[in-house]
Amino acid sequence: MLIIESIADMRQFVRQAWAAGKTVGLVPTMGALHEGHLTLMRQACAACDVVVASIFVNPTQFGPNEDFAAYPRDLASDSEKAAAAGVAAIFHPSVAEMYPTGFSTYVRVEGITEKLCGRSRPGHFQGVTTVVNKLFHIVQPDKAFFGQKDAQQVLVLQRMVQDLNMDITLEVVPIVREADGLAKSSRNVYLSAEERQAALVLSRSLARAQQAVAAGECDVAVLRELVTEEIAAQPLAAIDYVELYGYPGLEDIDRLSGRALLALAVKIGKTRLIDNCILEAKACF
Ligand code: AMP
Repeated sequence: MLIIESIADMRQFVRQAWAAGKTVGLVPTMGALHEGHLTLMRQACAACDVVVASIFVNPTQFGPNEDFAAYPRDLASDSEKAAAAGVAAIFHPSVAEMYPTGFSTYVRVEGITEKLCGRSRPGHFQGVTTVVNKLFHIVQPDKAFFGQKDAQQVLVLQRMVQDLNMDITLEVVPIVREADGLAKSSRNVYLSAEERQAALVLSRSLARAQQAVAAGECDVAVLRELVTEEIAAQPLAAIDYVELYGYPGLEDIDRLSGRALLALAVKIGKTRLIDNCILEAKACF
């Protein structure tokens, strides 16, 4: 497996793949690879002839008081894992390679970026859409793979691809979880043993809402309250948001009808974690 640091070399690699008639898959990541990322990579390898995984901790998607500097970085271990998953090349550019002096062009999706993580993290999605745009231009993949763990990110990128007529298929991979339910995340390494236990409140509260929906509850305020109550009972947890919107449009709803996205952002100690599930109303009372 190759590790490619320059945009010129990345383009050259992809040109060779095209010349050999191969399809190209892209898996954008920020590294600190875990089973969630590796599932995306394996799926990409099953669907495409040549898979490029990018590992780039993208400064433009972090706010000034967020964890850009502290974000875990371990290229040696990531390379081993990506190679074992079947990745042909890692694209690992420097910040200066991606954002040289004078850089001043950004891609911004309106509307759906203004709620959920967009409200708590101003500028975050502009950073994501800009870097993904750049990666799409550099690698020009046939397919790009993203995780449902970042449900809003998927919707924002789908909007971008549609609005800008990009000829790229986005493939969405379900959330990969630890055996006890915690969604895998590079940020889980920040958690102390006690916080790791407390973090189970995210998946537990989603499960509580799913059970209530299965039992016929369709009132969005009641569902939000159930989830909020469960999280509030955990002393190490502080809610950033608990939100329910129609899915995939993210429209405001009072009652479930069809599909809805239940999304959470919760701080466990200093670590902000997100999780979500799709609720589907069957029989409402
Ligand atoms: P990140 O490195 O956190 O930017 O994530 C890179 C990609 O992996 C994104 O598309 C994420 O949605 C996806 N991803 C991260 N964690 C998970 C997970 N637990 N399950 C599925 N996909 C994930």
